[in-house]
Amino acid sequence: MTENYMECGRCGRKLKDSKSKERGYGPVCWEVVQREREEEDHAKTPE
Ligand SMILES: [Zn+2]
Repeated sequence: MTENYMECGRCGRKLKDSKSKERGYGPVCWEVVQREREEEDHAKTPE
């Protein structure tokens, strides 16, 4: 069983394509999330 998201984890919009559902983010938000992750990794900020 594959876990699929119904809404974008960032903006809350409904996801239409299967790839976005697997990721949990729409195509635009996915790019933003990836960029943020890279910056976080670079800065190494502790949570
Ligand atoms: Zn989104």
